Amino acid sequence: MDRIGVVGAGTMGRGVAQLFAEHGHEVVLVDTAEQALASARDGIATNVRLAPLLRPGTRPGSPEEVTGRIRFTTDLRSLRTADYVFEMVTEDWAVKRPLYGELDALCRPGVPFGVNTSAIPITRVAAATSRPEHVIGTHFMNPAPLKPTVEVIRGHHTSDDTVARTRALLEGVGRRQIVVADSPGFVTNRVAMLTVNEAMFLVHEQVAGADEVDRLFRECLGHAMGPLETADLIGLDTVLLSLQVLHEEFNDPKFRPCPLLRRLVEAGLLGRKTGRGFHSYASASATPSRSASASGGAHHG
Ligand code: NAD
Repeated sequence: MDRIGVVGAGTMGRGVAQLFAEHGHEVVLVDTAEQALASARDGIATNVRLAPLLRPGTRPGSPEEVTGRIRFTTDLRSLRTADYVFEMVTEDWAVKRPLYGELDALCRPGVPFGVNTSAIPITRVAAATSRPEHVIGTHFMNPAPLKPTVEVIRGHHTSDDTVARTRALLEGVGRRQIVVADSPGFVTNRVAMLTVNEAMFLVHEQVAGADEVDRLFRECLGHAMGPLETADLIGLDTVLLSLQVLHEEFNDPKFRPCPLLRRLVEAGLLGRKTGRGFHSYASASATPSRSASASGGAHHG
């Protein structure tokens, strides 16, 4: 069974590490922040414990078994023996680019790099390595252990072999794949980020509060979550960074980030991960309270 490397133990990295460990893979989870690793270990153990409630019918094993398959470390060199590496660090090219240089030097030739970005083109990432044919977009959805399908992005140089290998690996952990060509934001986030941003403008302009916006999407349009709830789930910092990438890549003002989003990020109100964003949350996994924390309301998915 492939030994999996995951770089970044934030919202996405911990979910993907959990997913592979639950399916019996040995996983190395690397982060520069000890605190992120400690919180990832606790979060994974809690999620596995709650699995019978959240995912009836699944048997992921005990929290100890699952976390026991994950090595939590700040040492990037632990990835030397990995067979497949997923990169899940902050959505900032200044952070991702030097990391790819290091990964390229450390990992064995031919080891694929699965890129988990919200908007950065996969071809740009591949150009930061000497193995562009082995670089592929693996856009997991949040929360990764619960979402059945992964958006797979073929970069300009991605080989058929890398696509096939990635599909087989995802199949092995019960994930369907939808393969698309490379473009900033791919399919999902090119549409989703625009929707989220527009919902924020509605709150900013006081057309409706966050609660009202989200209820309209849930109750009138039948969406599982409203756009501001989704933004809170993603993390408002990640939404802002993603919109900035889209704005720069397309040079189109339709992607300009809403000023209210900037204000909440500057205020440290990042959504679920900090307990407050457009909505307030009693805990990281709680459903939103009905009192919105941003003037008017807020969220999306
Ligand atoms: P996050 O901010 O929650 O976590 C990022 C983690 O990366 C942090 O723990 C940070 O300490 C770590 N990190 C930063 N630089 C590092 C380095 N050089 N080496 C190791 N670790 C490093 O971010 P996230 O929400 O988990 O997003 C990760 C990536 O996935 C981003 O590119 C994001 O756009 C994308 N993504 C996010 C979502 C979502 O819903 N949050 C969904 C799909 C894709």
